[in-house]
Amino acid sequence: MTELVVEINNLSRDFGKTKALDCVDFQASRGKVYGLVGANGAGKTTLIKHLLGLLRAKSGTVKIFGEDPVRNPEGVLKRIGYLSEDRDIPDWMSIDELMRYTGAFHSTWDQGYAAELLSTFSLDPAKKIKTLSRGMRAQVALISAVAHRPDLLILDEPSSGLDAVVRKDILNAVVRTISEEGRTVIFSSHLLEEVERLSDHVTMIHQGKITLDSSLEIINSNHHCSSIRFADLQNSPPSLEGAAAISGEGRFFSVVHQSSMDAFQNSVKKIGGEVLKSRHATLEEIFISRVGRPNIGELSQHKENTR
Ligand code: ATP
Repeated sequence: MTELVVEINNLSRDFGKTKALDCVDFQASRGKVYGLVGANGAGKTTLIKHLLGLLRAKSGTVKIFGEDPVRNPEGVLKRIGYLSEDRDIPDWMSIDELMRYTGAFHSTWDQGYAAELLSTFSLDPAKKIKTLSRGMRAQVALISAVAHRPDLLILDEPSSGLDAVVRKDILNAVVRTISEEGRTVIFSSHLLEEVERLSDHVTMIHQGKITLDSSLEIINSNHHCSSIRFADLQNSPPSLEGAAAISGEGRFFSVVHQSSMDAFQNSVKKIGGEVLKSRHATLEEIFISRVGRPNIGELSQHKENTR
């Protein structure tokens, strides 16, 4: 039987007129990595804040390890590692002081693991946090979130500020180690290629609603991107079974679709076209087909992350 670490039912949250979460159901099982994706303002951080008990569920229920995180914060929070979007760690401490300070809150703190990660990141424990670069600060915050080997690791935009090497190699290693040890990771990211690389399961949020919630394996096998050709010029994009997005013009079109290949080929044939080639759609293509193009905030964040 799979052990549920997170169980959210029918969770809604309004901020004034903004519906930040709208009837959200979400479950996370032990030992898996969950990627949470959505445009700016989609509701990811609001969902994470409910997991941590920082926001009380006004409608619906939130259970972490079978407990309400607002009613039993000590029992729940000691088993969670959290990297906030703001990396809020005290500037006046040295790295070593922060490690000892954070360690004091956790009976499971593994000083050897913290030291190993500091050395992997080439971080000098004697350095004051206020002297660190944004990326180094993100690394220190990540180490303090994982060194007590939490049962549930929650990372809000973990890649923000990390350089390409740290992002690809070290973040991968940290996240995979946690899940291989039978612990659960939930992370939000705008980097869809990273979500695709790291996650077992993808949850897409759009305007507070879950629009896709499935294992990456199923998402991959259900979504295709096909190039199609018509003998004659088309005045408008064709209407096709299962099509989520169509681009192109004239005789050539590219279609992201959820239909089976057989059904799609029949549908194209019926209107006088032919399928030239097909492949699995990338998560980015699926995201754009459901949510639209990333907005400017996301693009600038993406550029920042890939610097
Ligand atoms: P981003 O990717 O930009 O970090 P997000 O998916 O994390 O976005 P949230 O921070 O959860 O999005 O915000 C969801 C919506 O709720 C947004 O419209 C935001 O403006 C609104 N919101 C969030 N927190 C508050 C708050 N404390 N007061 C008022 N509105 C809020």
